[in-house]
Amino acid sequence: MAGNIKLEIVTPEKSVVSEEAQIVMAPGALGEFGVLIGHTPFFTTLKVGIIRYRDVKGEERFVFVNGGFVEVLPDRVTVLAESAERRRDIDVERAKSALKRAQERLAKMSAEKDIDFTRAKAALDRALHRVKLAETGHH
Ligand code: ATP
Repeated sequence: MAGNIKLEIVTPEKSVVSEEAQIVMAPGALGEFGVLIGHTPFFTTLKVGIIRYRDVKGEERFVFVNGGFVEVLPDRVTVLAESAERRRDIDVERAKSALKRAQERLAKMSAEKDIDFTRAKAALDRALHRVKLAETGHH
């Protein structure tokens, strides 16, 4: 079907994306899904991962999202994420040091005893996605 969807990605701090897209792919809790104009409305949670979309010029764009929620309407996709950055805004050195910190923390821990294990694993997951995305060379 022809037509664009309005994509909004917001965090508690700011609006990260507010633009028309031809197609949006998002990391839903039950798996990655794609949205074109006219999609049936639904609501789901997101995993930590990457939202990909094609802008009106046909360029593929990538945005890191730290979980959150997404509402899909026939002409609109709204993402509320805890944090999010466009690929070009990722500070790769910061993500690499976060990755190193999380790895060091995890190496010292015992999965059964330490309540911070889940937190350290989540930090590792965020940093890994950011480093991977920042180093792919996409926009
Ligand atoms: P760090 O340990 O480096 O703070 P984090 O995963 O704990 O990383 P978040 O809690 O996800 O960070 O994000 C806090 C804020 O910092 C958000 O505004 C997020 O967009 C921004 N941010 C975090 N890491 C990066 C990064 N590598 N590049 C750009 N912005 C980042």
